[in-house]
Amino acid sequence: MSDNKTLQAVKGMNDILPDEAGLWLWFEDVVRAWLESYGYRNIRMPLLEPTALFKRAIGEVTDIVEKEMYSFADALNGDHLTLRPEGTASCVRAVLQHNLLYNAPQRLYYSGAMFRHERPQKGRYRQFHQIGVEALGFAGPDIDAEMILMCARLWRKLGIRDVTLQINTLGDTTARQRHRDKLIAYFEQFGSDLDADATRRLHSNPLRILDSKNPAMQEIIAGAPKLMDELDEEAIQHFAAVQEILKRHDVAYEINTRLVRGLDYYNRTVFEWVTTRLGAQGTICAGGRFDGLIEQIGGKPQPACGFAMGIERLLALLQEDGMENPPAPLDVYVVHQGELASSMAFVVAEQLRDAGLRVLLHCGGGSFKSQMKKADSSNAACAVIIGDDEARAGLVTLKPLRGGEQLQVVPGELPGTIGELVKLG
Ligand code: ATP
Ligand code: MG
Repeated sequence: MSDNKTLQAVKGMNDILPDEAGLWLWFEDVVRAWLESYGYRNIRMPLLEPTALFKRAIGEVTDIVEKEMYSFADALNGDHLTLRPEGTASCVRAVLQHNLLYNAPQRLYYSGAMFRHERPQKGRYRQFHQIGVEALGFAGPDIDAEMILMCARLWRKLGIRDVTLQINTLGDTTARQRHRDKLIAYFEQFGSDLDADATRRLHSNPLRILDSKNPAMQEIIAGAPKLMDELDEEAIQHFAAVQEILKRHDVAYEINTRLVRGLDYYNRTVFEWVTTRLGAQGTICAGGRFDGLIEQIGGKPQPACGFAMGIERLLALLQEDGMENPPAPLDVYVVHQGELASSMAFVVAEQLRDAGLRVLLHCGGGSFKSQMKKADSSNAACAVIIGDDEARAGLVTLKPLRGGEQLQVVPGELPGTIGELVKLG
């Protein structure tokens, strides 16, 4: 028995329809030019990776690995696979697999869908899109600061205001170990006053307790030992150098010592760009340094730094500011009736495309009147109208659709005349 119910997309996974896709295309153009202006090169990784990669890179005791991954056994061979929840692990895996770091650091970016099994709500989806930027093989604070300056430039380019920068340092492994021991000792004192999450994380990932959003936990958290008090001299200097560059470039920031990021692999500099205008889903961009990750995934130790931004949240912010979907780009709508006219229309349309114009050739017949209606409501700058009489005379009518007189021309003159119109329009 066939089920005729219309099939729906998976919950939390959105179609981006043509009326919205124009904004995405515009955004992607801006982002690409921006990334190239900092010397970043594109890399494209598979959407599906071995589950072990994310467990190893992100950490077993993280929200993502514990409860957000789309993981399954391949029905054909039993392989354990996961739809990527983020891009850094895949990017580093690809770089190591292809030995890209041999003798040369890499500035790389990627863009695409990520998958997390979260509760869908505004700004939080199960398939969402990120632009990820990674600088691999760079140790100094200069690259951390440049990444932040880069973001500030992008917000200016996009016309985004009302985002604030929060930064923090997570120090290095030894400091974090000392801090971890102190945190466990501190939180243990509270026994059953800890909530379930905190109790569960106490011995596996106590740093994450600091990230708790539970109001009942805030007082306890406020008194917790500070990582800042454990930092080694080198990490302190690194953080100071990052801030120095930010100040020199007038990038305002707040130090948020509670910023620990959701993923295990960060150390030293971490940062987030946050807006108050998207409700609870206010982080539009987040990143930091991850000097231990490359070794953790099996490579020779190499420092690294990166960030990712959520495209849906950025576009929501732009739409909030009144940005509209740009109209579909079209220069010419070709209207034709009659056998001779139609075959001429085909030729003319191809010639106009040869000249670099964007041309919609009317298909499916209909009266001149109904075709002209479609031409008017398209976004074309002009219509080219061809009837059999004109075709026999070797002429076409050019009608500007945004004001101006129509005129008869020979097809050879069309590209030049239309080119002028499009420039004016
Ligand atoms: P959040 O705290 O909002 O869950 P996160 O720390 O899990 O974010 P990251 O892993 O740092 O997010 O991802 C970088 C960016 O990707 C986020 O700042 C956000 O803009 C976007 N992002 C993350 N998860 C989602 C999601 N489920 N839907 C839409 N965008 C997302
Ligand atoms: Mg999250």
